[in-house]
Amino acid sequence: MIKKNDIIELSVTSATAEGSGVGKTEDGMAVFVPQSAVGDLLRVRILKVKKTYAFGKIEEIITPAPERITPDCENFSRCGGCVWRHISYKEECDLKRQKVADAVERIGGIQTNIRPIIGSERVLRYRNKAQLPLGLSKDGEVQMGFYAFHSHRIIDCADCALQPAVFADVMRLTRDFLAQTDNSIYDEATGKGRLRHLYIRLGEVTDELMVCYVVNGNGLKQEDVLVRMLREGLPNLKTVIINSNREKTNVILGGKNRVIYGSGVITDVLCGLTFTISPFSFWQVNRAQAERLYAKAREYAALTGEETLLDLYCGTGTIGLTMARDCKQLIGVEIIPDAVKDAEHNAAVNSICNARFLCADAPQAAAQLEREGARPDVVILDPPRKGCGEELVRTIGKMAPDRVVYVSCDPATLARDLKYFAEIGYETKEVTPVDMFPRTAHVESVCRISREKPHK
Ligand code: SAH
Repeated sequence: MIKKNDIIELSVTSATAEGSGVGKTEDGMAVFVPQSAVGDLLRVRILKVKKTYAFGKIEEIITPAPERITPDCENFSRCGGCVWRHISYKEECDLKRQKVADAVERIGGIQTNIRPIIGSERVLRYRNKAQLPLGLSKDGEVQMGFYAFHSHRIIDCADCALQPAVFADVMRLTRDFLAQTDNSIYDEATGKGRLRHLYIRLGEVTDELMVCYVVNGNGLKQEDVLVRMLREGLPNLKTVIINSNREKTNVILGGKNRVIYGSGVITDVLCGLTFTISPFSFWQVNRAQAERLYAKAREYAALTGEETLLDLYCGTGTIGLTMARDCKQLIGVEIIPDAVKDAEHNAAVNSICNARFLCADAPQAAAQLEREGARPDVVILDPPRKGCGEELVRTIGKMAPDRVVYVSCDPATLARDLKYFAEIGYETKEVTPVDMFPRTAHVESVCRISREKPHK
């Protein structure tokens, strides 16, 4: 039996979707090794031994896997953001598609057509949003960047390969401002200190930049200096906002915004529609991939202009609004009041008059709509990680739409829900995995689900 600190030779034969390679010891124990790749022959140091599996770390790569590449980010080994910078993008896409297929088949018990994954054209600098924590090192140096894996230790970074280059400029200007003024930095442990997070958003089509500072208090010292420095250094700066968060919490944003420059919002374009984005608005982080995801959802919705479309978990309304011109009527349901306000605003800005939005819990709202006799032809589901659950699936069954389009960010809960759909006579015809977040462990999917016998 292996034990802690043993050094073993290990051949990596499979990978988890979370970014670990896996190999087996001579006596059949699985060893998980982060940042290894299928095909690697490694010398591995054992870090922890459980009953049937163990964890190790790479001591030496004896023979590299064919798909192994040199990581193109100096922070990769420490930062908790990316897990796949050491393999080719094609290999990453294969692993992600396999993760979706395994979940649907093993958890859902469903045999269906799993389409090739829609990969991202941009693997670098595809994000339009960053929320960077700040802290102090032991020697009192400002730390700004990303958390290490499963930890709140800040890895100090000057840049991130997933972010637009201009975000590095904002980070640098923020450091310069902090060096020139005596603003304190928040300490998570004590709840003391002022500046907590730097939060940046970029409208990719409009090139409008939003910079937001999350502070433990009402504001920063010398905000006029800050605005002047940002305006001088950032030609596309549109607005600067102070968000107050005085709670001792992991939630990044507090409830109150104060605009110190510009209008407090930026705009961007998605599928030909214009959207207003505030610090609180949900907005797709990889805009180009969101357009591809929505195009697939639209294909699966197969609208003819006659349908009533029910968009559950609609956020700021984006999916439904991009289809509103192709249906008779759109009803969106979303639990966060500000998102509902944004959705209504977004409908108005785009002169969409056949949409209404309800602020409610999706399962409850669906049950209410069903009791009132609502009979949507197509239902769109885009729930958070925990999925939509059995109760909502049963309510949808009672409303008997011809088609359901399920957008999911978690293959396991998706698979569970597809099984509930199967139980009420809805068949999953096709699943398309979509890679919204290259180099990270996340994978999205969109599914076409339909009644085995259409009722019209
Ligand atoms: N469809 C949108 C957003 C999807 S994210 C888009 O593509 O832009 C999931 C959304 O579900 C979030 O906006 C979240 O606030 C909302 N949500 C979470 N729990 C909910 C619930 N129980 N009922 C309704 N909406 C909920």
